[in-house]
Amino acid sequence: MPKSAIYKLYIDGRWISSESRETYSRVNPANYNEPLGRFQQGNEKDVDKAVDAAEIAFEKWRDVPPPKRGEILFRVAQLLKENKEELARIMTREMGKVLTEARGDVQEAIDAWILAAGEGRRLFGRTTTSELRDKFAMTVRLPLGVVSCITPWNFPIAIPSWKLSMALICGNTVVLKPSSDTPICAVKLIEILEKAGVPKGVVNLVTGSGGSVGTRLVKHKKVRAVSFTGHKDTGDVIMKNVGVGKKLGMEMGSKNPIIVMDDADLKLALDGVIWGAFGTSGQRCTAASRVIVHKKIKQKFERMLVERTNKLRLGSGLDLKTDIGPLVNKAAQDKVAKYLEIGKQEGAKLCCGGKIPKLKGWFVQPTVFTDTSKDMKIFQDEIFGPVTAISEANSLDHAIDLANAVEYGLSSSIYTNDIRRMMLAIKNLEYGITYINTSTIGAEVHLPFGGTKVSGSGWKEMGWSALDFYSDEKTVFVDYSGKLQRAQIDID
Ligand code: NAD
Repeated sequence: MPKSAIYKLYIDGRWISSESRETYSRVNPANYNEPLGRFQQGNEKDVDKAVDAAEIAFEKWRDVPPPKRGEILFRVAQLLKENKEELARIMTREMGKVLTEARGDVQEAIDAWILAAGEGRRLFGRTTTSELRDKFAMTVRLPLGVVSCITPWNFPIAIPSWKLSMALICGNTVVLKPSSDTPICAVKLIEILEKAGVPKGVVNLVTGSGGSVGTRLVKHKKVRAVSFTGHKDTGDVIMKNVGVGKKLGMEMGSKNPIIVMDDADLKLALDGVIWGAFGTSGQRCTAASRVIVHKKIKQKFERMLVERTNKLRLGSGLDLKTDIGPLVNKAAQDKVAKYLEIGKQEGAKLCCGGKIPKLKGWFVQPTVFTDTSKDMKIFQDEIFGPVTAISEANSLDHAIDLANAVEYGLSSSIYTNDIRRMMLAIKNLEYGITYINTSTIGAEVHLPFGGTKVSGSGWKEMGWSALDFYSDEKTVFVDYSGKLQRAQIDID
């Protein structure tokens, strides 16, 4: 990763400069004196070129037998595996997450490509009965066409891989627009796809701002589907821009709760809260930014949490002693600093942390607030930093009511040893994911991932759900009776 490197766009199998002739720069979030390179400030013309290339490539790619597509995808997985350590280090320097988590990010990508490769030998439709004699009924999966994939920075190899792997195995072609904060990871991923033998035009990469590149990719008439992951405010804009004629899959943020009941194993719950609240410096869509604790154990659990939080070490993610890396950029640090002030003004009690350390990176001390209530912004808003907020519950019903009292609905967790409480939580928590006796973090690629309420659009990522998004399930009837048979009419 030479500091003076200039990274390009990838369109129609070629690495090229943007039509804008403009570039932008980035620095290491753990050390803002360290430049990372220059990146193309893509624009609408670049998007048009990329979509045209994808549209042409679609004609051939859709006819490649899915098991053959799968072989290429499997090579992507192998190359990611061979380059796992290098990619993880690049990721840590580019966006800050600690090295062990960066390795996990690449591993999740490997898992996604392996899963998608295998799907090439399934891609099941269904066969069923017909209400008429000598008539055969089934569904087949067909690709959609050109898909826009718009991704955030916090899982810079895993999330583009979720989207690309499933889009490609279904026979679509793609234009990827990564976050402007993580262009290097995107370039490295596309280099691997190129090396694995993905034909030219099948995948294209356009870096640049959301306002120009993103908007064009959403509005483009030749695009058949938009898959977006990011902030709910961006999702709002995209939903208004997309118009009819395209599928729209959206995964957004959340305000995920961990409920700790009075019968819970408190040490286990503590491990889960520390991991959920402070992993990736709290910058996960599934971060445990709220902890709802039964009143009988609240004081004890708070003491345990503060003691552990105070021991967490801030620093560069490349240092293996570091527990908490920096936030991704200055704007993220400023936003979290603002919420630290809001929390105090709203009357929440600051248990620990709450400061911006004087370091050469965008760090924030891990912070615990307590005595928070539904009307507070730190209870309601996605802060996206190492900040968690405790609330007290009198009962399971009260805990679930507090958990559901936000507009979001991605991930939730409950610690209890009571089977009845577990089952009621599964039934009543209004979240796309519920974990029992483990943290709010822990997705696995072969299961659907996504949220309800403002956290998701209903189409889930990964697992079998992703195949439904990236393909069109066509209904087919074959009538071999040799005569006109009218459904609902000629039924005797
Ligand atoms: P963001 O919404 O700022 O940006 C996401 C992507 O959208 C970027 O590529 C950005 O350039 C692009 N974009 C911005 N404006 C656009 C527009 N008008 N039209 C089209 N594209 C546009 O989000 P972020 O800061 O990169 O990521 C953090 C957010 O993502 C958090 O809210 C987090 O919870 C969420 N997230 C959700 C999931 C999930 O699966 N649910 C996973 C990771 C992150």
